[in-house]
Amino acid sequence: MLLGSIEAGGTKFVCAVGNEDFQIKDQITFPTTTPEETLGKAIKYFQQYNLDGIGIASFGPIEIRANSKKYGYITNTPKKGWQNVNFLGEIKANFDCPVTWTTDVNGSAFGEYTMSMLANEHINSLVYYTIGTGVGAGVVINGKFLETQGHSEMGHVYLKRHPKDLNFKGICPYHGDCLEGLVAGPTFEARTGKTGKDVQINDPVWNIMSFYVAQAAIQTTLSFRPNKIIFGGGVVNELFLQKIRRDFAKLLNEYVSIPNLEKYITMPLMANNGSATLGNFALASKAYHS
Ligand code: ZN
Repeated sequence: MLLGSIEAGGTKFVCAVGNEDFQIKDQITFPTTTPEETLGKAIKYFQQYNLDGIGIASFGPIEIRANSKKYGYITNTPKKGWQNVNFLGEIKANFDCPVTWTTDVNGSAFGEYTMSMLANEHINSLVYYTIGTGVGAGVVINGKFLETQGHSEMGHVYLKRHPKDLNFKGICPYHGDCLEGLVAGPTFEARTGKTGKDVQINDPVWNIMSFYVAQAAIQTTLSFRPNKIIFGGGVVNELFLQKIRRDFAKLLNEYVSIPNLEKYITMPLMANNGSATLGNFALASKAYHS
């Protein structure tokens, strides 16, 4: 069996071909330019193979309601030229195999869910947050995404402000100080004038950020009671995660029981942001077998 994966990001596309064991056989990365050029490159790449299924995990917002006329479209994205693009339709028109369609972070969530299964973790739910240029999350419960009216937008929840951060307005163009507006990668520059990689882990800004991310983990815990919460994306590292766990424990105050905290709030099992590719393979395989 040969499976294709498109991880469609706002800055780059990662296309991969894998086998039934979800092992990557070949992979290419190219910048996200115009829809015509970028989708054209993806199609040309996959035409070299006789694929049995393709999984797409795309930046958004995207239309995921199967009964919508715009199903498969990227909708009102701020990314120039990509509004109202029939992404799924374009791929489907060129390949005679099942094609799955979900958000980038759902793809990663499903990849981590699949990895957890393969690692015999015996879980049936997880939440995957990505904290990078933006913030988003995907929820998988019993192998299914939480989505009906649309995909979740858990990066845009409102939070209690940190007392030492009250003057920062936040950077979300829609909400100002929502989660994304307070902890996305570009907030480093907005708060300190330095990029994230130049802000040492002992800088107080990390404590402000962990206070917010811990609150997101609290809301997720209380809303879904998942088996684990994974944090991926460029902003996340193990030392930051330790701060998040510390603040999470303080804020939760043992209100509900959770698994071992180290295992509950955790980094992705897949290194180098490879979760979405694995998720796409698993979703495409599932579609092929259904
Ligand atoms: Zn927002």
